[in-house]
Amino acid sequence: MATLFISDLHLEPGRPEIGEQFLAFLAGPARDADALYILGDLFEAWIGDDDPNPYYAQMKTAIRALSDSGVPVFFMHGNRDFMIGETFAAEAGITLLSDPHPLQLYGEHVLLSHGDALCTDDVEYQQVRAMTRNPDWQAMMLSKSIEERIAFAAQAREQSLARSESMTEEIADVSQDAVHQTIRESGADILLHGHTHRPAVHPFHVDERPVHRIVLGDWYEQGSMVEWDADGPRLEELPRK
Ligand code: MN
Repeated sequence: MATLFISDLHLEPGRPEIGEQFLAFLAGPARDADALYILGDLFEAWIGDDDPNPYYAQMKTAIRALSDSGVPVFFMHGNRDFMIGETFAAEAGITLLSDPHPLQLYGEHVLLSHGDALCTDDVEYQQVRAMTRNPDWQAMMLSKSIEERIAFAAQAREQSLARSESMTEEIADVSQDAVHQTIRESGADILLHGHTHRPAVHPFHVDERPVHRIVLGDWYEQGSMVEWDADGPRLEELPRK
């Protein structure tokens, strides 16, 4: 038995192959897990739990089937699906986690995060993040019609794409200062996050203490998962069948 971690699937109706792999994952290997943690950007966009698009209902039903089978499913917001709310959580049978979330696993102090909060070199993004995580801003957004929210999400996505194309590699990645500070303050042995789409295991030291940063990959070309059992964590690719 193992605890499984995934992130950055960026599910959307226009990329059916990702959804098919996710559905097979939920009905297959995830059924044998101790727990499944989804560390954000499960969806490419989320305009509200009241979105009537049947694609999202299909994904919700499949996640529900996993949690109903006895596998606890935890979810942390990403920068794409930060509007996922308690209604979706209840219907999908998942537990929402705040970011960061500490976890004890096989004697290790693990800190889970989506990862966008660590990208502190991108000052403009952090301002947008602070605004869009504000409950008043979210209430204002949810008071708009579905059509208005779909249009807003499409516009936000275009702006985000244009920005990421003009950004340097360093600014788009996590800040090493932020990583060190986060590990120092939390006392974590292992920081596990996604968001940057740069899957890797980074060993380093914080105040002479050996630590690791594990980065999950996205699901654009294949799946990515951390499988963690008594032998420790393993970062794995999940080939597309
Ligand atoms: Mn992200």
